[in-house]
Amino acid sequence: MTTITGGCLCGAVRYEISAEPLTMRVCWCRDCRRFAGNGSPNALFRRDAVTLTGTLATFSRSADSGNVVDMKFCAACGSQVFGEIAAKPGFMTVRAGTFDDSSLFKPVANIWVSSAPNWACMNEDIPKFERQPPPPTAK
Ligand SMILES: [Zn+2]
Ligand SMILES: [Zn+2]
Repeated sequence: MTTITGGCLCGAVRYEISAEPLTMRVCWCRDCRRFAGNGSPNALFRRDAVTLTGTLATFSRSADSGNVVDMKFCAACGSQVFGEIAAKPGFMTVRAGTFDDSSLFKPVANIWVSSAPNWACMNEDIPKFERQPPPPTAK
């Protein structure tokens, strides 16, 4: 099984993930673009597969999907590392820009493309969803 490691820009926050992602998608919603500066590469994991060290700060927001999302970022350097949805406590998203090995991010869809800017570059070989897609099937 793959072990995925990663962390924030300054190195204060590190994580190790001992499971395959449940899904990997690039999100173009307005909030993700504000945080990520572009489409955000998000990988979804079971929460209990993620081992975390370091201090995270949290910003909670109401997402376009209707969920309250806790955005978790390094308290020292501000890098966006995780997202957690209060209503789905067993899961967390990891911003794949923080993976040590960037090639481990293999997006299967672009989501919220209705919010994408006209200069967005997307992989045309994977599906696009105008808004929130159905949840991934359990593995
Ligand atoms: Zn940091
Ligand atoms: Zn988003």
